[in-house]
Amino acid sequence: MKRIVILGATGSIGQQTIEVVRQHPELLKVVGLVGGTRASELIAVASEFPEAKVVLFDENAAHGAGLLGGMATIIDLVTSTEVDLVVVAVAGVIGLLPTIAAIKAGKDIALASKEVLVAAGEIVMPLVERHKIRMTPVDSEHSAVFQCLQGAPENSIHELILTASGGPFRGKASRDLQSVTVQEALNHPTWAMGGKITIDSATLMNKGLEIIEAKWLFDIPLDQVKVVVHPQSIIHSLVKFKDGSVLGQLGWPNMRLPIQYALLYPERPPSGVKNWNPTEGPSLTFEEPDLETFRSLNLAREAEKAGKTMPCAMNAANEEAANAFLRGECGFLQIAETVEEVMTLHTPQNVDLETLLQVDLQSREQTQRIVRSKKG
Ligand code: MG
Repeated sequence: MKRIVILGATGSIGQQTIEVVRQHPELLKVVGLVGGTRASELIAVASEFPEAKVVLFDENAAHGAGLLGGMATIIDLVTSTEVDLVVVAVAGVIGLLPTIAAIKAGKDIALASKEVLVAAGEIVMPLVERHKIRMTPVDSEHSAVFQCLQGAPENSIHELILTASGGPFRGKASRDLQSVTVQEALNHPTWAMGGKITIDSATLMNKGLEIIEAKWLFDIPLDQVKVVVHPQSIIHSLVKFKDGSVLGQLGWPNMRLPIQYALLYPERPPSGVKNWNPTEGPSLTFEEPDLETFRSLNLAREAEKAGKTMPCAMNAANEEAANAFLRGECGFLQIAETVEEVMTLHTPQNVDLETLLQVDLQSREQTQRIVRSKKG
């Protein structure tokens, strides 16, 4: 029996993690549930798990609802001796501190929050190694790569190819995107996900974050991580090996598959998701990403190249700009423009945790200032 804590229990991945737990009550037990700000939703989720500890990040909302609250309480929970694995499924870099604390306490991590590695891979990955914990990817592309790499010797990879659906605006030009609405951007063609990641998929920043996530998870230089647009989202990613073989992982786009693999690795009990069938499914097509219209993908590459704290600054700017767009405070194209502006303002510094948290905060403030100034 694996005892798990879910960070982001009211979110999209958190909810699907609970579906996986329901499917395998003999293998998985929820011992902790952590939410962000939505107290009543968290209480509703928790009613199914009377033994689980329940914590809300937002202390004011927590006290109002009679819940435990705050980061220190979350860290106590994830480091407790009753926990085997922590599912990190919060939107954004807010998951960083509890992830670091859990790793140091020897807990395995199922990682959905790619922002944690984008901003702080340089800190997190050495801790994974030092504390000999297992970090399994929940992100579908990285789960695919992880699955394809089972049994592969080190140094056998030639290249990773992450697949991208292309999002709701695939095939559009910049002029078409000037006045798109939040609703249009949230209308993802293949995946049902949370708000922030769906906007990231529309800008292609999601793929930008994912190439950096792949670099850290699989210890591979970024120029060996490629992206191909595959609108059907059936092949979840490909690994090219040095011998000329290419392996891929295929399945219907359903996050329960990668979540279950991350939780129960290396076991593959029935998930309730039916196998993809080549004669029933859509024909599979592939195209190059449009890097002119969707500039975020290259912004991510540039941030990684600049190194040090630049990916952290980029990630913070993107979180703030994507959320500003969701609130109707800026246009769709302004997301990438603002990220680029914040990157131009940022001087990369050597990475330690304190510096990262400062850069994160600074870049958020800069982003908000830029968004406000353009609005007024
Ligand atoms: Mg993904």
